[in-house]
Amino acid sequence: MAEDVFKKIVSHCKEYGFVFPSSEIYPEGLAAVYDYGPNGVELKNNIKKYWWDSMVLLHNNIVGIDAGIFMNPTVWKASGHVDAFNDPLIDNRDSKKRYRADNLIEDQIAKYDEKIDKEVKKAAKKFGDAFDEAKFRETNPRVLEHQKKRDALHERYTKAMQGPDLEELRQIILDEGIVDPISGTKNWTDVRQFNLMFSTEIGSTAGATNKIYLRPETAQGIFVNFLNVQRTTRQKLPFGIAQIGKAFRNEIVARQFVFRMREFEQMEMQFFCQPGTEMRWFEYWKKARLAWHEALGMGDENYRFHDHEKLAFYANAATDIEFRMPFGFKEVEGIHSRTNYDLSQHEKFSGTKMRYFDPDKNESYVPYDVETSIGVDRMFLSVMCHAYQEQQLENGSSRVVLSLPEALAPIKCAVLPLVNKDGLPEKAQEIQDDLKFHFTTHIDAKDSIGKRYRREDAIGTPYCVTVDGQTLEDNTVTLRHRDSMEQERVNINELRAIIEDRVSSTSLLKKLAKEIKDL
Ligand code: ATP
Repeated sequence: MAEDVFKKIVSHCKEYGFVFPSSEIYPEGLAAVYDYGPNGVELKNNIKKYWWDSMVLLHNNIVGIDAGIFMNPTVWKASGHVDAFNDPLIDNRDSKKRYRADNLIEDQIAKYDEKIDKEVKKAAKKFGDAFDEAKFRETNPRVLEHQKKRDALHERYTKAMQGPDLEELRQIILDEGIVDPISGTKNWTDVRQFNLMFSTEIGSTAGATNKIYLRPETAQGIFVNFLNVQRTTRQKLPFGIAQIGKAFRNEIVARQFVFRMREFEQMEMQFFCQPGTEMRWFEYWKKARLAWHEALGMGDENYRFHDHEKLAFYANAATDIEFRMPFGFKEVEGIHSRTNYDLSQHEKFSGTKMRYFDPDKNESYVPYDVETSIGVDRMFLSVMCHAYQEQQLENGSSRVVLSLPEALAPIKCAVLPLVNKDGLPEKAQEIQDDLKFHFTTHIDAKDSIGKRYRREDAIGTPYCVTVDGQTLEDNTVTLRHRDSMEQERVNINELRAIIEDRVSSTSLLKKLAKEIKDL
């Protein structure tokens, strides 16, 4: 069921110019790369603007940069990506498909959780109001049996990943009887490590010395510019550096549409602070980032934190913000307290002191860092999944509507002459010529007005302005609201004032500013 909805969202994205599969005219296209269409790019730009402004406009101590995608290759040695940015992969000899060994085992753990949930749901239905879930979980033999197996598997898996112990990962897959979902067989190869960084050559001669990487995260561009930014902006700690840009990962299994791509976009902010204050800032950014998501009005119940049990060796706290996608709660954003690891590593590898002179303490030190890192594409997907609705209407017809947050909608207002004659198209053009300087608009005169409303609903346009015979007499138009479908008669001179405030990101930012003021 949820899968069907997801399929519909994917095809809706294509049909209405949001997202196209890459190189589609070639029979094989290019897996795990997607192109954003005319509506998709507007929506994506609105997401980026909301994020950027929430960082750079709302915080005096956050500034932005735009670093290059290519960097000196030693950067990736220092960051640990050359040696440790690996996924354990395994092939099935029958289907010839490649999987991430860790994903196969995690799916198996999730299966035990599902079994437990099923038992709980069944019992809840049976016992009704008298049902004591906590007690049931503690005492029901079937639940206990599943829980025992789940916990044992989880423990074994976590231990195996620490090395990682590749042989043990394979053994777990065999012991659990995990089969390939395509071939249905257990004919697995060994588990191998696979580095996720793409590389290419710089200059005209190929060779190991010319090897250069496509950045797998935007963060390092911020770290290597720490001194430049601090000096030129004269920021004092704590302060942050924000950046939006493309990142590349040679993902072994790319699936779920734009959720996991090989080329994607990140919005990252590194917040530098005094050692010892990082946990306070970690808590601040957890709350501030959740408030950013919640201000969009997509339902507070659709978000949750997932604290990391296993931390990277240099991190002292990490959490994900997950959103309820049609395929379950999934990570959209990561918030990590990375200590002084990255700057110290660059100091070590570059020989340049990555220090901050603290005038209050009269000493220099390597600052600590709290990172917030969100994928633009995953954010886009969460917005689309939440917005997509199929509605049965009172008059017996149905419609597909994207109930997008108005500030994110690609087109804010469509101007529609009721008929394509009698001076109405000219009047509509006049209205659009006035509004287009303030927000994105459409003008559309083809087909019946009902069909045109449906087209606008399908791309999430919050307002439709209809120009009719009366408009020429009294300068009024009909203003139709997307979600309620209610229509009101308003004077043309009032249109801009009514629409602009609601569709701009300003109102969203004001709401957010209030929420984070006292954090
Ligand atoms: P995952 O565990 O899902 O692979 P991650 O923990 O490796 O993600 P980070 O390295 O923390 O992800 O990257 C920060 C953010 O970048 C993620 O929260 C996600 O929104 C986005 N992101 C990471 N990898 C991809 C990808 N392959 N496609 C799209 N977005 C991605």
